[in-house]
This record gives sequence, C-alpha cells and structure tokens, in this order.
Amino acid sequence: MRIPRVHLTIPLHVGAAVELPPSACEHLLRVLRLSEGAPLLLCNGDGMDYRATLGEIGKRGARAQILEALPNHAESPLRITLAQALARGEKMDWVIQKATELGVAQIQPIVTERTEVRLDAERASRRLAHWQAVATAACEQSGRARVPTVFEPLTLAAYAAGVDADAIRLALDPDGDALSNALNGGALQNTTPIHIVVGPEGGLSERDHAQLRAAGFSGVRLGPRILRTETAGLAAIASLQTLAGDLR
Ligand code: SAM
Repeated sequence: MRIPRVHLTIPLHVGAAVELPPSACEHLLRVLRLSEGAPLLLCNGDGMDYRATLGEIGKRGARAQILEALPNHAESPLRITLAQALARGEKMDWVIQKATELGVAQIQPIVTERTEVRLDAERASRRLAHWQAVATAACEQSGRARVPTVFEPLTLAAYAAGVDADAIRLALDPDGDALSNALNGGALQNTTPIHIVVGPEGGLSERDHAQLRAAGFSGVRLGPRILRTETAGLAAIASLQTLAGDLR
C-alpha cells in the first residue's frame, strides 16, 4: 500500500511528535484502519517530506512521530499561474484538482465579461476555503509538497494589471497564434513565471481580449478543436511542461 501523505499547517521537525488534525485521523484510523507504528509521510509546504510513524492513538485523536526529513522532488520546474474564468461548482473543483496534480504554482479565479457564475462576498470566502482544501487534498494524493495558493476571485482587468512584466503571459484563444510562436522559439526558463488565462464557456469577449493585449498577453491557440473551459488550461499546462521536460 502507498504510504499515506498528510498535509499539516504547523512547523515540522525531526524528533517531534505532532498532533494529527481530526480530518486526518478520520481518514487514517477509520477509512484506512491504520494502527500504531504505521508509516506516514507528513508535509507542510516547506518543500520537504517528513517520514513519520503513527503513534499514540487516543480517544480524541492520534499523534505522529517524525523520523526523518527528505527533499521532495515532485515539484514542476515551471512556476505556472492558471487564471481560470469562474466555472460552475464541480467544474471549478475539477480544474483546481487536476491543475494541482499537474504542478501549477498558483490558481487565480477570474471574472470576465461573459462569466456567468456570480459569488457574493460570503459565498466567495466559503468557495475559497473549499478550493484551497481541494488543492491540499490533490497535493496529498499526487505527492507534491507545496500546495498551490488559490487566490480570491478578481476581475480580469484587476488580475491582468497585477501580472509582472517579466512573466510569460498567455491568453488561450482558439483564434490565437501557435504556442511555439508565442514563446518566440525560446527555451522555457525555470525561473520565469508563466501566466495562462482561460476564458469561460462563452469565450473571452473583445473587451477581455483588449484588456489582455494591453497587459502584454499573447493569444495562444491549442490546436484546431474548441476545448471546454475545464480542458483548455490543463492542455496548456501539459504542453508547457512537455516543452520544459517536466513530463519525462
Ligand atoms: N466559442 C468560444 C470561443 O471561440 O472562444 C469557445 C470558448 S471555450 C468553450 C472556453 C475557453 O477555453 C476559451 O475562452 C479559451 O480560453 C479556451 N479554449 C478552448 N479551446 C481552445 C483552443 N483550441 N485554443 C485555445 N484556447 C481554447
């Protein structure tokens, strides 16, 4: 059986005994039925995996004993931010889960002119906590040690205005240029941030395209077929990572 990974939000040190949160205890003790001494991998986003064993199971929970710190090699060399137009419930979860598995560094939900999903402040903060939990679970499952940050939704204009000028800025557009042309044939540098914008089901409007062009984004086509909004970003991430040698 694969060694279960548990993401914690506390500092981890070799030799420490740490309290496992109730959600992890539920999974390890009730679902997987592990007993004391079972091997675990703990992580907290510091880039390391901590080899541990399940210790001391009490009525209220369990602890883990940390044995060794090991470097984690599951991170992508590319620092990709996926700016995804808000999609309905399950689709957004799906994008966040799969983009995390593929190794994105950040996920920025965006509101474009034709975005139909509307979130008031209270729903937005609940969705954000839920999306961050989806990303954390995807890291545990896929072996990543760094959980991508999921940011609060922003309008396309506010997001685009905040993207660094040195980033590679790609706006996915069925009428755009080939990816190789947008990258100017240059090799992908691991340190260069890459931003990918994906439009909603109704596509990016003329106004959206104008805002993106003004912010230095190049329109990029991903082949001759129209992809659903939840497919397009993942195809772009996989293409960039193939070019960077991350999927070897
Ligand atoms: N009729 C819309 C259009 O022409 O833009 C289709 C929108 S598509 C369902 C949703 C989003 O996925 C698009 O806004 C775009 O960002 C991306 N997309 C879909 N297919 C694509 C392709 N072949 N190349 C590049 N981007 C694509």
